[in-house]
Amino acid sequence: SLAGVCCRRHVCSSPSSRQSCMSAWVVDQYGSNGVLRFTEEATAPTVRSPTELTIQVHAASLNPLDLAMRGGYGAKMLKLRRDPMSVMDGDSEFPVILGRDVSGVVVDCGAEVTHFAPGDEVWAAVPPWKQGSLAEFVTLTEYEVSLKPELVSHTEAASIPYVASTALSALVSGGGLCRESSSNKRVLITGGSGGVGTFSIQLLKAWGAHVTVTCSQNAEGLVRGLGADEVVDYTSGDVAEQLEMMEKFDVILDNIGGETEQWAMGLLKPWSGSKYITLVTPLLSNTDSLGLLDGTVNAGITLCTKAVQNIISSGVFYRWGLYAPDGPFLDEVRKLVDSGKILPVVEAQFPFSQVPQAFQKLELGHARGKTVVRVA
Ligand code: NDP
Repeated sequence: SLAGVCCRRHVCSSPSSRQSCMSAWVVDQYGSNGVLRFTEEATAPTVRSPTELTIQVHAASLNPLDLAMRGGYGAKMLKLRRDPMSVMDGDSEFPVILGRDVSGVVVDCGAEVTHFAPGDEVWAAVPPWKQGSLAEFVTLTEYEVSLKPELVSHTEAASIPYVASTALSALVSGGGLCRESSSNKRVLITGGSGGVGTFSIQLLKAWGAHVTVTCSQNAEGLVRGLGADEVVDYTSGDVAEQLEMMEKFDVILDNIGGETEQWAMGLLKPWSGSKYITLVTPLLSNTDSLGLLDGTVNAGITLCTKAVQNIISSGVFYRWGLYAPDGPFLDEVRKLVDSGKILPVVEAQFPFSQVPQAFQKLELGHARGKTVVRVA
């Protein structure tokens, strides 16, 4: 039954390379949309450790990180993570394949893979230091992968893993929330209309939290439809003033960053363990501009200083939320999707031939959920 899959991999025509090849969108240098290049001769990933498996990609989705990485964001840190001992051939990370979400079918498994077999339909968030999903195949470790929800298509499924893994990391590890502890919690989500926001609203409502969202006026219907209890239009008047009139919050998930943290800390319940988690952190941009060591130290000092200031002045926790791969959490999300408690929010779909157009869509901003690329 996998014959149709396997025969799509072919041997590269280049006489110097006899490895399997595949179609992919690659970047050979960082820059604007023009650096995206389609090739049928990208090196197909293979299972190289016993815990890895290879997935034939049916759908991928785009995240703001893909736009940033196309321009070189995080290049130094991600290069170190890819090749910590500098053992890989050559000095270059190129060609890089972008795309952080995958929904597809397992085609090959390492000897120690126990939860998956060829033919399984799976979904996953591809870590940014690995080759991405804008390709026919992607190889991941078993821990990063989860069985796909049965009741949604690959296109819909691909809209969820990366934002779900990020929301988990931020809300559970950073915000101390979980299914059992959320029912009496008041949570504020800034930027609720984007990928992370539309997922987080639904997750928190499934866990029983009270959810307030900031977004543009024309996204109010979307976020209320996903379950938001209160909505503040940040385009009409002073958003901080509007939020100050409300009861204070236990947790704030900040998808916007910048000046937000200057007014958001005052919206948290003081001296009661409340937490502010921002997804907009300077960690990778610091390492890009200052180098790995100075950039990491600088980011660490910034984080510690803010954390200490806020805990001393008002007893609130200041934290950074960072994406972390987590297949077992995606198992939990699968149940919520299959029970209809979390709906995929796909704003736009593009065929594999139109990846540059999908990036252009993302570049326009104003996301209302996710942009998905149909690969197979
Ligand atoms: P999206 O681009 O999908 O969504 C952003 C949303 O915010 C849009 O709907 C936009 O709509 C809205 N928005 C813009 N400005 C404001 C504002 N001032 N107040 C309220 N809403 C606003 O991004 P994601 O949801 O995927 O990600 C959110 C942020 O988190 C991004 O900056 C991303 O880079 C970051 N991120 C960080 C991760 C990490 O590991 N630290 C991982 C994942 C994401 P409109 O402009 O029309 O209002």
